[in-house]
Amino acid sequence: MKQKLADIELAAAEVSQKISSEAELQHEKARFLGRKGELTAIMKGMGQLSAEERPLVGALANEVKQRLEELFSRRQDELRQQDLDRRLATEQIDVTLPGRRLRTGNKHPIVKITEEITEIFTALGFGVAEGPEVEKDFYNFEALNIPKDHPARDMQDTFYVTDDVVLRTHTSPVQIRTMLKQAPPVRVIAPGTVYRRDSDLTHSPMFHQVEGFLVDHHVTFGDLKGILTTFIDECFGKGTGVRFRPSFFPFTEPSAEVDIACVICGGSGCRVCGHSGWLEILGSGMIDPEVFKSVGYDPEVYSGFAFGMGLERIAMLKYGVNDLRLFFENDLRFLRQF
Ligand SMILES: [Zn+2]
Repeated sequence: MKQKLADIELAAAEVSQKISSEAELQHEKARFLGRKGELTAIMKGMGQLSAEERPLVGALANEVKQRLEELFSRRQDELRQQDLDRRLATEQIDVTLPGRRLRTGNKHPIVKITEEITEIFTALGFGVAEGPEVEKDFYNFEALNIPKDHPARDMQDTFYVTDDVVLRTHTSPVQIRTMLKQAPPVRVIAPGTVYRRDSDLTHSPMFHQVEGFLVDHHVTFGDLKGILTTFIDECFGKGTGVRFRPSFFPFTEPSAEVDIACVICGGSGCRVCGHSGWLEILGSGMIDPEVFKSVGYDPEVYSGFAFGMGLERIAMLKYGVNDLRLFFENDLRFLRQF
């Protein structure tokens, strides 16, 4: 038995020198000292020894056990030191290198223009409302004086979800939802995403609009002109040329399209303005009494105006972007310029 203990000690000493990793060390340590280890087996077998031998062998086994534990723990220290030396040699930090600059994000031009326009109108006392993008026919068409089979529906190529549910083709349904909830006076703008079955160089099937409307006693076309002229001054610069052109929309009467003097040529005529000197930027008009009837406003008591504009168009003109698709391609080289 003494011989066995000596063999074990010798074997452990040899093995420990070959160990090269901490995992290996744990494995070998268990093989000698673990509950099913070789030394433990001997200690368990001591019951078969005679009464004289038992204390002698027991003491010896304990000494061996202690020495093996020291052996493995020493080896562990060595391995850790080696690992530390290796890392100190290879992992160097050059504190003189310049730091990495953190790139800050920036807003998408459509978000930026939406915020700018919202700020202008909130300064004029308008609140901001939102509505669903998947909309009932009633809010998108019917209540806006565009009944089924009305030719005006052809003006907007609609995505139908079902016969009665559409992807909203404009932000105007928010007008209806707001007026149904709230009695006059109301002055609200509604920015948001709209959808039309239209896709080419100048059209995207998804784009953005901001709608605005104001209803109160004695609201006139003069108020409409005043608010929109103020908006254009704020958005494109004071003194920007403005003109109102008669137009038609089913939900306003009378209706007007609003042009600004071309931001590229200043009015002398260029390719962008089709040599007219003017750029159309929004549609507007006095809210049609039929619309008031569908939301329960008395057209004899109240009057109001509404307007809507495409945000991509405003952003293109204001930031000098010549291709609509740039807004949707998410090319960082383009987006970082704003
Ligand atoms: Zn021009």
